This record gives sequence, structure tokens and C-alpha cells, in this order.
Amino acid sequence: MKVVETIAEMRRVRLELAEPVGFVPTMGHLHDGHLALVKRARAENPSVVASIFVNPAQFGPQEDFDSYPRDTERDLAMLEKEKTDIVFMPSVAEMYPTQFNSWVEVGKVTERLEGASRPTHFRGVTTIVAKLFNIVQPAKAYFGQKDAQQAIVIRKMVTDLDMNLEVVTVPTLREPDGLAMSSRNTYLNPEERRAAVVLYQALGLAQRLWSQGEKNAERLRQAMIELIEKQPLANIEYVSVADAETLDELDEVRPPALVSLAVKIGKPRLLDNVVLE
Ligand code: AMP
Repeated sequence: MKVVETIAEMRRVRLELAEPVGFVPTMGHLHDGHLALVKRARAENPSVVASIFVNPAQFGPQEDFDSYPRDTERDLAMLEKEKTDIVFMPSVAEMYPTQFNSWVEVGKVTERLEGASRPTHFRGVTTIVAKLFNIVQPAKAYFGQKDAQQAIVIRKMVTDLDMNLEVVTVPTLREPDGLAMSSRNTYLNPEERRAAVVLYQALGLAQRLWSQGEKNAERLRQAMIELIEKQPLANIEYVSVADAETLDELDEVRPPALVSLAVKIGKPRLLDNVVLE
């Protein structure tokens, strides 16, 4: 496994890789959810590139860029074990030199859900992902269903801007109690960690009601809200039942529908979702 820190070297080693190349972009502090993406890329491509880059452009001014968990040595050992060919690990100055002044912006689907409370988040995501695609030139790129809106936004960017690659979405990996794996779960103290299962319980309730024939989206939202509000450490930011492609909120559930939540458990803000099919 090669670890590469500059764009110039990444371009050089890229020339030697067997085609096609599968690519897994991450912000590091890896867990089994990230490794599920790497495993899928490994199974589907002769070459696998992963990146580790905590992207300042996707964090708001009050967000956790400085404190975001970092553990490069452990990350590299995990990626090596999964037979990653190249890890691209640039510095902030390498990706955003002082004269940097171009942005990639996707429209409507970035304004809802995460975009509503984090107005510059997706512009940061799409800009860095477009840069990484240009540098790595993968045939397939792998994203987690855990960040469903991110995957939808990236698909839209790839389609609208005719980027020559396939976006693959990989199912969410969960802890034994159902909590979606996330680098930010490390922020939870033991009491918050126990309370955090309420996101999964609420999604499970929505799925159960839907499978029993409930088609009224507002009743699904209300049922989830009532359940989450019983947990004293939980503070709801949004509970959404939306069209899985446009992210328009639904009155009547038409599959596939994306049921998604952002809930603060104490200070940490957690996301999760399921698709009703
Ligand atoms: P991050 O490092 O948080 O930016 O995540 C990098 C990639 O891993 C993104 O495509 C995430 O959606 C994906 N990912 C994060 N957590 C999970 C999970 N629990 N299951 C599947 N994919 C995940």
C-alpha cells in the first residue's frame, strides 16, 4: 500500500494502476462502515484508492473541524488490511492553496435536510469530491447510505456535470443495538451512547407502520417524533419523510421514500435514515 500526500504524486502513481479504479473518499477515523465501502470497492475493481481528508470547506464556523477525531496510524493499518492499493492523504494547503477560488454547487437537493441547517456544507462536499474525482479518476466511487443526502447530491453532480464514473451506494453498517456506525459516535458519553439507539428505534417504527399499511407521511413523522421525545437526552433537528430522489417532503408515501433524522443526543448531532420500498 502506498501513502501519497501530493496531487502530483497521486497523478504519477495513478498511471501505474490496473484499470478500472474503485475510489473510497473518507475523512478518516475509520470504522467498519468505511471498511464496508473499501471491501465493496476491492471486490469490484482491480485497483482501490482511498482518501483521508478532513475537509474544512464542509464544516460550518461553529462546527467540529478542529476537534474532528483523527487517528492516521490506525486508519492506515485498517486500509492496509483491506488491501487498499493507494491512500491519498493530502494536507489542507495541498487541496486549498491560498489562491483557491472555485466552487461546485448542486441546486435544490442541497437546500433541504442537512443543507437547511448547514448552508455551506454541501458546497464543501461537492467541491472536494469533484477535485478528488479529477485527481483519482475512478471508474466507480463508493458512498455510504448512512449519509443518504450526500449520496443523492453526489449522484446529481455526476449526472448534471457528465462526470465519467459510476456512484455506488453501500448499505449502512450498524452497531449490535442498531446505532449507525459513525466517527462522531466517539463524542457520546456512556449515557448518551445508550440513548442514541432511539434514532434506530424511530426508523424501525416508521418501517413497521409502513409495512402495516400506513401511507400518511405526517402520521409517520408524528409517530417518530413522539417516540424520540420520550428520550430526555434527545433533541430533534428534523424528522423527514421525503421522495428518495428529489427530497421533496411527501404527504402520501410513495416508494422509494427516504425517512431521515437528525437528532442531537446531548451535544453530538447524529444522523440516520432508512428507505421505504
Ligand atoms: P466520512 O468519513 O464520515 O466522511 O464517511 C466516508 C464515507 O463512509 C461516506 O460515504 C459515508 O457515508 C460512509 N459511511 C460512514 N458511516 C457509514 C456506515 N455506518 N455504514 C456505511 N457507510 C458509512
